[in-house]
Amino acid sequence: MSDLICDQLETINTRITDACKRVGRSRDDIQLIAVSKRVPTEKIRDAFDYGQTVFGESKVQEAQGKIPDLPAAVQWHLIGRLQKNKIRKALPLFDTIHSIDSLELAEAVNRVAGEEGQFPKIYLQTNLAGEMTKTGFSREELISEYDQLLDLDRLQIMGLMAIPPSRDDEALTRLDFAAVRELRDELVEQSGIPLDGLSMGMSDDYEIAIEEGATIVRIGSAIFGERT
Ligand SMILES: *Cc1c(COP(=O)(O)O)cnc(C)c1O
Repeated sequence: MSDLICDQLETINTRITDACKRVGRSRDDIQLIAVSKRVPTEKIRDAFDYGQTVFGESKVQEAQGKIPDLPAAVQWHLIGRLQKNKIRKALPLFDTIHSIDSLELAEAVNRVAGEEGQFPKIYLQTNLAGEMTKTGFSREELISEYDQLLDLDRLQIMGLMAIPPSRDDEALTRLDFAAVRELRDELVEQSGIPLDGLSMGMSDDYEIAIEEGATIVRIGSAIFGERT
């Protein structure tokens, strides 16, 4: 078993607990996803043996190759872009899809889920900074399309997901995370329906994300080291 991966997981769990304490949150409100994209299965197994059970993959194909080699108790989340022609393949593999980035994709997943008899858990991916290199709902789109999204009866909408721009200034990153939380709160107000989840925070910024309300953090390199 890799001591390094265990040490890193221990450190991260301590830091998550400390971040919770700073803002009066409960550690139980935060879920850690170990992002295992481009990480070999032996290392994933080390993390699993340490007690980490939830893993995130960004590609359907890659996950499909790894999943049979790992214990069935592992829970897989899709965090990367989902192409429409991979939806049918993705649904049975993943417990949760974090990357529903348009109404069109949501409708397609809803349709396939109906055909397959599934009720997938999903996050709506936001792109509040309007970055050209990333996909996701703008604030205006999400506000205007939210009722239509709620009508998709096969989807269990868990919350919002965000990958804010990398910034040099921590205060700006904090504002990016706060904007996602505020948009979530606005959607709750608009719809009258609870929406708890905020999937945000990665290796470099998860503590700030937790202080700003994240409920699920996606951490890769801080656990497994730099990816090849
Ligand atoms: C790769 C990836 C992560 C993890 O990034 P690290 O910086 O290695 O922690 C988190 N979320 C998404 C969507 C990713 O693609």
